[in-house]
Amino acid sequence: MKIVKLPKKNLAEFIGHLNSFGQIHAPVKRGEKSFVFAPVTELTEIELNCNRTILPLKKYFFKPVETMFNFCAQKGYEVPVEEQDKKYIIFGVHPCDIHGLKILDMVFSGRYVDSYYFARRRRALIIGLDCTPDELCFCRSTGTDFVDSGFDLFLSDIDDSYLVRVGTSIGDDMVTAADSLFREVEKEDREKYKAKSIQRRESFQTEIQLQDFPGIMDLEYESQVWEEVGEECLSCGTCSMVCPTCYCYAVFDELNLDAESGQRKRRWDSCLFKDYALVAGGHNFRAERSSRVKNRFFHKQRGFVTQYGRPSCVGCGRCKAYCPAGIDIVEVVNKLRSQTRV
Ligand code: SF4
Ligand code: SF4
Repeated sequence: MKIVKLPKKNLAEFIGHLNSFGQIHAPVKRGEKSFVFAPVTELTEIELNCNRTILPLKKYFFKPVETMFNFCAQKGYEVPVEEQDKKYIIFGVHPCDIHGLKILDMVFSGRYVDSYYFARRRRALIIGLDCTPDELCFCRSTGTDFVDSGFDLFLSDIDDSYLVRVGTSIGDDMVTAADSLFREVEKEDREKYKAKSIQRRESFQTEIQLQDFPGIMDLEYESQVWEEVGEECLSCGTCSMVCPTCYCYAVFDELNLDAESGQRKRRWDSCLFKDYALVAGGHNFRAERSSRVKNRFFHKQRGFVTQYGRPSCVGCGRCKAYCPAGIDIVEVVNKLRSQTRV
């Protein structure tokens, strides 16, 4: 992999160059402590030290609500056309979110390829950025604190410069187009990078042990923990909305006033919603909050492992950060594990 160095004093100019590759989106501040990915044109708008945005990158490719096709009794149906040429650059993406995106790529490219998702995904360029973990991050435990693919460029802080890993040919084009801003990497830069990486790994405050966890989940299927968490859960679905790897959606039709035409749409859904498992005839397979909470944990830590060989949690901490009931995935996992060890 090609590695170059970008002095920090050149970052603003580099961002200016990036505008010629597409519209730039990056974390920006919203309110006191919240951040969102939003369009930017210059460095001063970007919040480089943001720990996590409210919504992850999935909002770009798998929209919260979208029209799948328009229908009309006379004309049949037509799929809205996506602009194919317009690229956009998402800057400042942390390793856990790149892993989240790789999981979504895997899910949406399964047996039935999701053309809506990939029409947008293909137009996106990803520029990653290392971050400093806070007390909610546990991506080290989920093995998602480092990425070696899934980005066009990846920037790591080495004091007065960024060490830049070039992941794709278009990433190489971005560097070449702003060649005068970059420097060759010296031995001393590599040493700094290694020391910083160790320092970062050691700065995690939250750890969970996920080893053997699918087996523990099976043993704890009837655990009282599910009742306790179910008692606290408000079924608001926030944890699913903010999760970079939750991908359930509901499909529905909206009829126009002519009663002959309309739109078929899809919107994000959550297995925590009361009516998620409600079927025709009125039976609800998961009427209890405890069973819905259990289902979410089982899907992430058990079912996904069976299907894809890894859990679908990337340790971003969003579900804890935004849960109005303060439900903490780490606490739940630790409680279940401690019960099995006793
Ligand atoms: S389950 Fe929670 S910590 Fe894990 S990826 Fe989803 S939002 Fe992040
Ligand atoms: S965010 Fe918290 S309260 Fe809301 S559904 Fe998820 S676990 Fe329940």
